[in-house]
Amino acid sequence: MDRIYLDWNATAPIRAEALARMVGTLATTANPSSVHAEGRKARSLVETARQEVARLVNASETGVIFTSGGTEAINCALDPRWRVNAAAVEFSRALIGSTEHAAVLAGGRFDPKLRASLPVDRNGLVEFEALDRALAATTGRALVAVQLANNETGVLQPIPEIGRLVHARGGILICDAVQAAGKVDLDLTALGADALILSSHKIGGPQGVGALVLRDEAVAPGDPLIRGGGQERGHRAGTEAVAAIAGFGAAAALAQSELHETARYVRGLRDLIERELLARLPRAVFFGRTVERVPNTSLIGLPGAPAATLLMALDLSGFAVSSGSACSSGKVKRSHVLDAMGVDPHLAESAIRVSLGRGTSEKDVIRFIEAFEKAVKCLYKRATAA
Ligand code: PLP
Repeated sequence: MDRIYLDWNATAPIRAEALARMVGTLATTANPSSVHAEGRKARSLVETARQEVARLVNASETGVIFTSGGTEAINCALDPRWRVNAAAVEFSRALIGSTEHAAVLAGGRFDPKLRASLPVDRNGLVEFEALDRALAATTGRALVAVQLANNETGVLQPIPEIGRLVHARGGILICDAVQAAGKVDLDLTALGADALILSSHKIGGPQGVGALVLRDEAVAPGDPLIRGGGQERGHRAGTEAVAAIAGFGAAAALAQSELHETARYVRGLRDLIERELLARLPRAVFFGRTVERVPNTSLIGLPGAPAATLLMALDLSGFAVSSGSACSSGKVKRSHVLDAMGVDPHLAESAIRVSLGRGTSEKDVIRFIEAFEKAVKCLYKRATAA
């Protein structure tokens, strides 16, 4: 039986071009810090990728710091000490969106006492008044972390407006754009965030590489998270993962050149899923559907259809989807995102995330709709028989 992969937000399948560039690089690479010809060639592969990643977010390549992934880039950024035009700046508070990814919620290098959570509304959008109140109540300066796109719902935050509010109160804004890259246009200047987080494996590059992208190199985390040699202009020590970075660059270039075409294509498929499921299962809920979302994501809720059971049934029928809840130590934990949005706990426990990509076909989507309807109806039948 052919498997149908509808979990692109977890990891997007690697692009053939990224793989080819990685394989070529692995076969020939030297240390990019070496001054000899082989080293200079490795350096040029890293710098080409830096330009490609910078172009994806319309940033300056001098702002791109390669890391081992989104999680490390987040931990680099969540530093209570930054340098702003060569002066040391200490942040007295970290204000963190309540629907952020676990890597951001963990608070980086901020003492837990200095962290505060920002509430969101029913659609998962950060409440402006609460943010403004939290900024006004901060003695000193605040570092604010708000994602661009949510990994579960796909909901997009109005980052430019949030940035204006944060800057007016003297703070800085870190924006996790891991789930937005390759799905919506990204322009770091227009977004107005001070730093963006990117991850290669969400855009068709390899796992284990990502980037912290600074809007202005003069506004940067004060202490490197990983100390040692002076790689990445002193921001991140350690010999660069040349092949992974090269693959990331290739994926970034493709994501940028194909962005509009891919977005249009996956939006059509996502809308087909939502339209058809609603017609077949009228109690279906699509979280965040009434606000702006990335085009490839649908988080589906159905009262009385537990996600854990649905997920297993779908997996057995050949579909890779994800539950909106996280699994830890054998127990299914309800999604903190849906909890923060005030979703009824029973409905939240049913959430299934479907995330699509350019490799998803209309046939895949139609087969999914049929399998999903069948699995839900089977669950309902069993529940009424019991
Ligand atoms: N931020 C978001 C929104 C994510 O979805 C993820 C990965 O799931 C990360 C950060 C972490 O990125 P990485 O897997 O590269 O550490």
